[in-house]
Amino acid sequence: MPAYEYTCKDCKKDFTIYLSIKEYESNPKITCTNCQGSNIVKKLTSFFTKTSKKS
Ligand SMILES: [Zn+2]
Repeated sequence: MPAYEYTCKDCKKDFTIYLSIKEYESNPKITCTNCQGSNIVKKLTSFFTKTSKKS
């Protein structure tokens, strides 16, 4: 599942959303995971470049 990276302009946090292509194409309403704001900017898309490095 592709990861979509965003930066929130309100709280300056980066966050990653995981959506299937189909979900993404249906134009979902994406909000900041930190402040739930919609003032977000899309970053470069990464396709599983960083897998399971968080432990
Ligand atoms: Zn935010």
